[in-house]
Amino acid sequence: MEGLRECGLPDGSGQLVEHRDGDDDESELPAAGSLATILSVRAAQTSSTTSPAKMAAQAIVVGGGLAGVSAANTVMEWGGKVVLVDKSAFCGGNSTKATSGINGAETRTQKEKKVEDTVELFTSDTLKGGAKKPELVKVLCGNSGGDVDWLVDKFDLDMSLLARLGGHSAPRTHRGKERFPGMTITYALIQMVEKIAERSDLARIINKAKVKQLLTKSGAVCGVTYEKKGKDFTEEGPVILATGGFGADFTEDSLLAKYRPDLLHLPTTNGDHTTG
Ligand SMILES: Cc1cc2nc3c(=O)[nH]c(=O)nc-3n(C[C@H](O)[C@H](O)[C@H](O)COP(=O)(O)OP(=O)(O)OC[C@H]3O[C@@H](n4cnc5c(N)ncnc54)[C@H](O)[C@@H]3O)c2cc1C
Repeated sequence: MEGLRECGLPDGSGQLVEHRDGDDDESELPAAGSLATILSVRAAQTSSTTSPAKMAAQAIVVGGGLAGVSAANTVMEWGGKVVLVDKSAFCGGNSTKATSGINGAETRTQKEKKVEDTVELFTSDTLKGGAKKPELVKVLCGNSGGDVDWLVDKFDLDMSLLARLGGHSAPRTHRGKERFPGMTITYALIQMVEKIAERSDLARIINKAKVKQLLTKSGAVCGVTYEKKGKDFTEEGPVILATGGFGADFTEDSLLAKYRPDLLHLPTTNGDHTTG
C-alpha cells in the first residue's frame, strides 16, 4: 500500500462521474464504493495524502476477473488511470463461471428481507470452514456487505435473491433473477472499464498479454513486463495482482504440485488460465 502511494495514486477526491464526456448512458457510470477483493487499493486511497496534481498516475491491474475489474473501477472512481492486463483473449476469468452468487453479511437485501446476519457470524463461519488467515477473513467478511451494496448502487446489478449455502449460518449468498450471476456481475464491471476506455484515456485494456515479471526500484514494485505476440512490453506504475488461483496447473513444477500435491490427481472446473 505504501508502494501505491509512492507511485502517486490519487487521494480519493475524484469520482468517475466527473470524467464523463458523453451524453448517452451516463447514468450507468459509477460514483464511489469498494469490493473486498480490492481492499489494498481502497485502503491506500482513503488514507493517501497524494496531491490532485498527481491524479493522472496510472495503476496496473494484472488479471481481468472480478477482482481485477473491481480494482480497475475503484482506481478510476478515485481519480486514477488504469491499465488492465490479461493473458486471456477475453477478460472474465473464473469469475464468469460463478453460478451460486456472491456472499455478503449485513447487506441491504438481507435487511429488507429481515435476515438476521452479522459480520461476526460470517467471520466465524469462514474460520470454521477452514480459512487459515484470520486477518484476511476479517477484511473479506467485514467489507462483504458494503461490497454487495456497491454492485447494486454503482452497476445497477440485481442482488435481490438470497440463498443459504453449506457452511453458512444465515442466507447470505446474493444473486439476481438471471441464471449466471458471476457472468452478469463480472461483465457489468468489464463493460464499465471498456466504456471508459472508449471515451477517455483513463482506462486501457490489453488482452492476450501475459505478465511475466514485476519491475522493482529500491525494493518497491514499480511496473510489469508482459509478453504479447512474442514481444516484451513494459508498463510503469503501482501493480495490483489479481491473477486468480493455480488450481488448473498440473505440471510437475506447478504451485499446485508444490503446495497441494494431494490434489494433483483430481479434475477441476477451473479455466485453463488458472495457473498462478
Ligand atoms: C465452476 C466454478 C463456479 C464457481 N462458483 C462460485 C460462486 O457461485 N460464488 C463464488 O463466490 N465463487 C465461485 N467460484 C469461485 C470464484 O469464481 C473465484 O473465487 C473468483 O472467480 C476468483 O476471481 P479472481 O478475479 O481472483 O480470478 P479469475 O476470475 O480467475 O481471474 C483471473 C484473471 O487473471 C488472468 N491472468 C492470470 N495470470 C495472468 C498473467 N500472468 N498475466 C496476465 N493475466 C493473467 C486470467 O486470464 C484471468 O482472466 C466458482 C469457481 C468455479 C471454477
